[in-house]
Amino acid sequence: MRINILGVGFDNVTMDEALARGEELLCSEGAHYVVTPNPEIVETCRADAAANAAVNGADLVLPDGIGIVYGAKILHQPLRGRVPGIEFGTGMIERCARLGKSVYLLGAKPGVAEQAAENLKNRFPGLVIAGTHDGYFKEDAPIAAEIKASGADMALVCLGAPKQELFMAKYGEATGCHLLMGLGGSMDIFAGVAQRAPEFYCKHNLEWFYRLIKNPSRIGRMMKLPLFLVHVSGEKRK
Ligand code: UDP
Repeated sequence: MRINILGVGFDNVTMDEALARGEELLCSEGAHYVVTPNPEIVETCRADAAANAAVNGADLVLPDGIGIVYGAKILHQPLRGRVPGIEFGTGMIERCARLGKSVYLLGAKPGVAEQAAENLKNRFPGLVIAGTHDGYFKEDAPIAAEIKASGADMALVCLGAPKQELFMAKYGEATGCHLLMGLGGSMDIFAGVAQRAPEFYCKHNLEWFYRLIKNPSRIGRMMKLPLFLVHVSGEKRK
């Protein structure tokens, strides 16, 4: 059963369990997708019914941010921990390389997915990249058709939220992939155009703070975190 935080149901899984489930989905018939909501996405889902349906319709809903873990704790439904999307994505790419499954990289600015493909092939020998496309396209259907034509087994969909969740919910089947995952800014990190927070920040659950000092224009988006905690406290009182 999922843990409901302000209308978004989270799978209460460890990283190892999430990866095992991801592998199962990758190797089964049909299209499946994974989302990795943080407090900002939960707030978006509260205001946007289509985003809410796309997020809750995923086969795996992973608690990406520490804010989600705190929220669950406040609501007395503790989650077993964080499952950061980038780490889940890396683990699944490693599995694709091992299982001989091919990967399509969709998203980020022009040139970024190609650079990510080069870096990932060097990091995971034997990895097959079926194709790449930037995330600034006008129509979704031709992109889904392009992914299908590439024959990819798995797709990284890094378009930002809720665009990536809506794309996967509507076009997942049309891509022919068995597993799609919405991973936000991860393509930039795989390409090396953005850096993950140093270990100190990750260890102390301050990754959000590192991202803020690196990119102060995120302040507006980050204000959704205190808002999320206010809403969680309100829910607890109810
Ligand atoms: N992006 C995209 N198409 C769009 C809007 C955004 O491909 O129409 C990309 C953007 O270039 C970035 C990623 O989506 O690589 C979103 O990054 P963000 O930092 O917002 O994601 P987060 O990890 O915070 O969810």
